[in-house]
Amino acid sequence: MSETSNAVLNLPALRAQFPILAERIHGQRLAYLDNAATTQKPEAVLRALDNYYRHANSNVHRAVHELAARATTQYEAARDRIAAFLKVAREEIVFTRGTTESINLVARSFLQPRLQPGDEVLLTGMEHHSNIVPWQLAGARTVAARITDDGEVDLEDWHRKLGPRTRLVAVVQVSNSLGTINPVAQMIRAARERGIPVLVDGAQAVAHLPLDLRELDADFYACSAHKAYGPTGFGVLYAKREHLEAMPPWHGGGDMIRTVAFDGSTWNEVPYKFEAGTPDMAGAIGCAAALEWIEAQGWTAIHAHEQGLLDYATPRLAEIPGLRLIGTSAHKVGVLSFVMEGAHAHDLGSILDQHGVAVRTGHHCTMPLMERFGVAATARASLAVYNDRQDIDQLVQALHKARRLLA
Ligand code: PLP
Repeated sequence: MSETSNAVLNLPALRAQFPILAERIHGQRLAYLDNAATTQKPEAVLRALDNYYRHANSNVHRAVHELAARATTQYEAARDRIAAFLKVAREEIVFTRGTTESINLVARSFLQPRLQPGDEVLLTGMEHHSNIVPWQLAGARTVAARITDDGEVDLEDWHRKLGPRTRLVAVVQVSNSLGTINPVAQMIRAARERGIPVLVDGAQAVAHLPLDLRELDADFYACSAHKAYGPTGFGVLYAKREHLEAMPPWHGGGDMIRTVAFDGSTWNEVPYKFEAGTPDMAGAIGCAAALEWIEAQGWTAIHAHEQGLLDYATPRLAEIPGLRLIGTSAHKVGVLSFVMEGAHAHDLGSILDQHGVAVRTGHHCTMPLMERFGVAATARASLAVYNDRQDIDQLVQALHKARRLLA
C-alpha cells in the first residue's frame, strides 16, 4: 500500500464512490453527519465484500479444497495489509468484533490475572463506556483524570493520578463526543517511565490520523473497521507480541487450539490463540479494502479537507443564538457537539432528520463526560472525508429552523 501524493481531494468524484449518499431522506438531500457512530462505505469496500462472497467464500484454515484456500489466502492477506497500515507485525494483530471486544479481551486476559486488591486503571474523564466498564468488570478501580472546560485532559491531574496503584493506563486517542485529540504519545512515555502498560482506544482515530503504532509504542491499541469506512462487526486488537505470548486465551473453541484432549488442551500460536471459532472473513477483507481506500486518498488531502470543513462549520454553529459548543480544543477532529438553550437534544435530532440531516443525540456512551459538562445529552455532528460545505449549510439552516420551533 502506498500513499498517493494528492494534496486536494476531488470531492464530487469521492462522494460518488459512496452510493448511500444519494439516498433521499424525507424527500431531502442526505447530509450524513453521524460518522463518529459509523461511517458509510465506498464502492471499493462494497466490491470487496461482494467479491468475497461470490468467488471465495468458505471456512478458513480447515480444508484443502480450492475455495477454502482462496478464503484463507484472502483472509490472511487482509491481516498483512491491516498490519502494514498500522506499521506492526502480523502476529501482533488479533481480529475481534470491534473496539469493545478488543478492550474486553485485554481486561480479561491481561489485566485480570495481574490484578491485586486496590489496583487502579487510570482513565480520562472523556472515555467511552467501552473503555470504562470492561476494567470494572475485571475487578479494577477506575480513576479518571479531570477534563478542562475546553474538553482536554488536565495533564497535571493525570500525572498526579498516575500512582503506585496504577496497574494500567487506558486512554482514548480521539474523543467521540468532543473530537479532542489527546497527547497519547506523551502519556505513553510517562507511563512507560513507571513501567505501567498503556492501552489506546483508537476507535475514532483510524479514519482521521495517520498511525504508526511501532513508533507510538502503546502496549495495546483497539479499533473498529466500521468507523473507518469498513464493515460493521469487525475490529482489531494490536498488542505487543510479548504480551500476547504471556496472556492466556479468553475464548475457547475451534482454531485457537493446538491439541485437545479430555485431560487438557494446548494453544495455537499468536494471534490465533485469541481467535476462537469461525472468524468474520468478509469483515477482515472489507476492513483491509477500507484502509487501502483511505491511503489511496492521501493523508495530506484528508487532513486538509476535514480541518477545512471543521473551520468552516465551527463559527457558523457558534453564531446560532442559544447554541453552546462542547469540545473546543484547538487539537480536534471534525466533531461538533452542542446543546441549544430550551431545546432537548432528541427533539433537535428529530427536526434535523426531517431536513435530511443525520446527527446523533444522546450521551454518546460517555455519561461521565456529560456529567462533567452538566448536560444529559448533546447533539453531535461528526465529519468524514466525504462531507462537504453543503452538508454544513444544510445543518446550519435546519438548526435555525429548529431554534424557531423549539427555543
Ligand atoms: N471507543 C470510542 C471512542 C468510540 O467512539 C466507540 C464507538 O462509538 C467505541 C470505543 C466502541 O466501538 P465499537 O462499538 O465499534 O466496539
